[in-house]
Amino acid sequence: MKNLNKEYKEKINEWEEVKQEIRRLKQYKTVKRYLELEEESKIINKDLNNLYKKILYERYSNCNHILVMSDYDYDSYEGRSYRYYGCIKCGLDEGVINRGYGLNKEENTMLELMNEYEVHRIGGKQTGIACELSDARELYNEIIENDKDLSDDEIISIFKARAKTKKLILRR
Ligand SMILES: [Zn+2]
Repeated sequence: MKNLNKEYKEKINEWEEVKQEIRRLKQYKTVKRYLELEEESKIINKDLNNLYKKILYERYSNCNHILVMSDYDYDSYEGRSYRYYGCIKCGLDEGVINRGYGLNKEENTMLELMNEYEVHRIGGKQTGIACELSDARELYNEIIENDKDLSDDEIISIFKARAKTKKLILRR
């Protein structure tokens, strides 16, 4: 205990010295400017994140989703399985709720939005195909690349046929 008290006092002294040095350096114009810019940079970064979130929200909420089963989970305790669906058009994916880790920036923002709006199930047209969402989106892009005026139902029938030819599967 005595040693800890001593260590604590020494740390306080060390901290005081550091703070004093910071106060001294802050008198220089460049240092002051540097600190101001750091602060500005943090604010801009926060604005960027908010804008990114708004852009994704707009994209997801203006989409008439076309869904593939992108993930599933089996609960052996409850003896039931859960299916998760993702949209081949906008990329919104219920699977992020199941995974919850190792998510990229878009998926993290997606998860935040779904939690904020308490959306855990995505409504849309089903393709009846179970496969990786990234593969499905690649195929979707191929389909619309050649014909941008296809209706959703036309896209779904082409998608189903090609997903079978390409043998798209869910790899987990
Ligand atoms: Zn969508």
